[in-house]
Amino acid sequence: MKGAFLPGNSTVELKEVAVPEPGYGEVLLRMKASTICGSDIRCIYHEHLGKGPEGYQGVVAGHEPCGQIVKAGPGCRRFGVGDRVIVYHISGCGVCNDCRRGYMISCTSEKYRRAYGWQRDGGMADFLLAEEKDLIHLPGELTYADGAQVACGFGTVYEGLEKIGISGKDAVLITGLGPVGLATGALCRKLGANKIIGIDVVKERMQLALDLKLCDEVLESGPANVAEVRSLTGGMGVERAVDCSANEQARATAIRATRKWGRIVFLGEGGRVEFNPSPDIIHDQKTIYGSWVTSTWLMEELVERLVRWNLHPADLVTHRFSLDNVDRAYTLMASGKCGKVAVCFDEEL
Ligand SMILES: [Zn+2]
Ligand SMILES: [Zn+2]
Repeated sequence: MKGAFLPGNSTVELKEVAVPEPGYGEVLLRMKASTICGSDIRCIYHEHLGKGPEGYQGVVAGHEPCGQIVKAGPGCRRFGVGDRVIVYHISGCGVCNDCRRGYMISCTSEKYRRAYGWQRDGGMADFLLAEEKDLIHLPGELTYADGAQVACGFGTVYEGLEKIGISGKDAVLITGLGPVGLATGALCRKLGANKIIGIDVVKERMQLALDLKLCDEVLESGPANVAEVRSLTGGMGVERAVDCSANEQARATAIRATRKWGRIVFLGEGGRVEFNPSPDIIHDQKTIYGSWVTSTWLMEELVERLVRWNLHPADLVTHRFSLDNVDRAYTLMASGKCGKVAVCFDEEL
């Protein structure tokens, strides 16, 4: 089979690799959809910058996999051949405190914690070897491209929104309208928000947020953003803000454009932020949350909700490529002039 590797110089190498054989508690998936994440570009594609959990070990890339089981090893307890599944993208030890909470993302075992596409082979190949405990059932109402986006982006957003709580009472500010920001708009809508304000610098992304009706107002990033958001919310600011940009100014905007008693969650990774605790959060009684990926149980809950809401994450996929054209997929994603970019197989292409 073919698998895509990222040497770290803004290119992709497609190499011939052996089809793996599932061992005890493992399954072999026929890959159907594998989407590209911002972190693939930030930490691996241009340069291997990540360390620890973000350290790329030269494996098959892709940590947003969704496919169908074609072989199940001995000892599988729940899933079998023919099942359509999403792969929670970090395989943890299964027995540390974090894993037992379902947060394999923060598994504390240095020996056993391995993320798909980072430290163990990921989804940019014809087949993927996965552990059964990492699988989430994909309901028939959702496509594989829907599922691939749950594996990382939508799951991450859902977790962050659960932490700050979103309802029809809230105006929401989203800083950064890449795929994670767009997913935030889509989920906030279904949670009842009817005043969603987005900020970005890339014209294509701003337009996409409006075209898909994921934002009601879109602002171009700039020094007047706090005043602009306040004037869109009766001078008060938003009740909730979600930073998906990791940009220093945008993060400060998210904090300052939030009203008294409001809540802010940081999802965007890397970078820094500077703010003045007393005027910016303490005196206004605001809370800033950090949120890293999600748990397996909340991902299952999200999948159930997506069906109930008739929300299809694949609507954010603007470009699909075959595995043979995987290099073009990464080039486009790195340009930022797109929504979500997917490598697809068989009926999903
Ligand atoms: Zn990701
Ligand atoms: Zn663990």
